[in-house]
Amino acid sequence: MSEFDVIVVGAGPAGSSAAIKMASQGLKVLLVERGDPVGSKNVSGGILWGNDLAAIIPDWEKSAPLERYVERKVTSFLTGDSEIAIDFKTKKFQEKKTGYSVLRTRLDSFLARKAAQAGAMVVTGVTVDSLAMKDGRVIGVVNEGETITADCVILAEGPNPRVAMAAGLVGKPNDRTVGIGVKHVYKLGENVINERFNLRGNAGFAGEYVLSFLEGDVYAGGFLYTNKDTVSMGVVINMATLRKNGNTHSFDIMEKFAQHPFISSLVEGGQLQEYSAHFVYEGGYEDMPRAYGNGYMLVGDTAGFSFSNGMILQGMNYAISSGILAGEAAIEARKDNDFSAESLSRYQKKLDNSPAVLDKKNFQGISNVVWSPMVHRAIPALLESSLYSMLYESGKPKKHLSQIMMKSLKSSGMNSKDLMVQGYRLMRRM
Ligand SMILES: Cc1cc2nc3c(=O)[nH]c(=O)nc-3n(C[C@H](O)[C@H](O)[C@H](O)COP(=O)(O)OP(=O)(O)OC[C@H]3O[C@@H](n4cnc5c(N)ncnc54)[C@H](O)[C@@H]3O)c2cc1C
Repeated sequence: MSEFDVIVVGAGPAGSSAAIKMASQGLKVLLVERGDPVGSKNVSGGILWGNDLAAIIPDWEKSAPLERYVERKVTSFLTGDSEIAIDFKTKKFQEKKTGYSVLRTRLDSFLARKAAQAGAMVVTGVTVDSLAMKDGRVIGVVNEGETITADCVILAEGPNPRVAMAAGLVGKPNDRTVGIGVKHVYKLGENVINERFNLRGNAGFAGEYVLSFLEGDVYAGGFLYTNKDTVSMGVVINMATLRKNGNTHSFDIMEKFAQHPFISSLVEGGQLQEYSAHFVYEGGYEDMPRAYGNGYMLVGDTAGFSFSNGMILQGMNYAISSGILAGEAAIEARKDNDFSAESLSRYQKKLDNSPAVLDKKNFQGISNVVWSPMVHRAIPALLESSLYSMLYESGKPKKHLSQIMMKSLKSSGMNSKDLMVQGYRLMRRM
C-alpha cells in the first residue's frame, strides 16, 4: 500500500490548487516544494486573473493577499522618442474585479497554507530528484535516494520541469518554447503610486509594452504593475532573437526599459527591493505534452499552459484551473481505485473542454505574428510618424491622412501589400 494517495511536486499556483482540491475531499496528499518559504523561487509580473480560485477558495477576493485590482490597463508601443498607447479605464473593471496584482511569495505561501488547512502535508525546502517507477508506472518520488510512494504523482514544477524531462514526459525547453523574464520590484510608497498613476484606494495600473526601441533586432515586451506600495516592473525577452543577436544581455534590456524616459519618470526615486529572473513558458498548442500517464498527471507550466508572447502574459489562471481539474480527476480515480493511464485520461477530457486548452488551440501560431518585425518595428514606426505628422502644427500646408499614412508606411520599411497580408494574419490570430 502506498504512503500517499497523491504526491504533488511543486507548490506554485498549479500544485497548491490541485492539493487544496484533493485534500479537501479527503485524499491523503503530500505537497513537496523546494523553495523555503513557499514562493521564494517564483516570479510573475504578476496580474492574477483569479476567477478560477473561487472553486477552491470561495472568499478568495477577501482572504488572498491581493495588492490592487486592475482598473487601468495600458497596452503600449515604446519607440526611442515616443509612446503610443491604448489607455483603457472602465467602470466595468471597478464593478467586476477579477484581475489583481500579486506578489508571489505572499500568494504562494497563502495557497500552500490553504492546502495544509485542507489536510495536505506540506513539506518545504525539499527538491524531488526523480520519479520512482515500477513496471512502467509511476509509484512515487525519490529524494536523496529515498523513495516516497503514492498511487499518483502530479508534476507541477513550472516551466523548467527537470523531473518530468528526466522521465521523458516533456521535451527540453528550446528558443521557441521559453523566453527569459527579468523582474524588479521598487518601493515607492502608496501616495506616490496613487499620484503618479492617477489612482485612488486599491485601484491599480497594469501596463504592457512592446519595446520597439531596442536595437539589434532583439524582441522583448515589458510590464509595469502597481502593488500597494511597490511597483513590479520587468521584461520578457524572445530567446531566438536574443541568441541571434549574440551581444545583448537580458539585464541590459531591463536597464534600457527602466531608463526609457516615459518609464523612468514612473519609477523615479523607487528603492529596489527584489531582483529576479525566470523562464517564461511560450510554447504553443503543438508543443503541449500528453498531460497524463500510468500514475501521473502534469499541470500548469509543466503541461504547457502558460500564454505568453510579448503582448499577453497569463499563466497563473491556467495553472490554477489545470491544477483543480487534475485534482478532480484524482478524486474520481481514487473512488474507482484505478490510477492507470486509462483512468487518468479523464483529466485530458476535462482539459479539452476547458479555457486552458481552448485558448491554446484557438490562438495557435499567435507568437509567430506577435514576435515579428511587423509588431516590433513596422507598426510602431508607422503609428509614430503618422501621429506626429497629424498632431504637430508645423506651419506648413496640411496633408490628408492618406498621404501621411503612405509616407509613413514607406519610412516604416513595409509596402501596403505587406501591411494588408501581415495585418490580416495578426487579426486572424488575435
Ligand atoms: C517575468 C514573468 C512574468 C509573468 N507575469 C505573469 C502575469 O502577470 N500573470 C500571469 O498569470 N502569469 C504570469 N507569468 C506566468 C506565471 O508565472 C506562470 O504561468 C505560473 O507561475 C505557472 O504556475 P505553476 O504552478 O505551473 O509553476 P510555478 O509557479 O513555476 O511553480 C512551480 C513550483 O515548483 C517548484 N519546484 C520545481 N521543481 C521542483 C522539484 N523538483 N521539487 C520540489 N519543488 C519543485 C518551484 O520551486 C515552484 O514553486 C509570468 C512569468 C514570468 C517569469
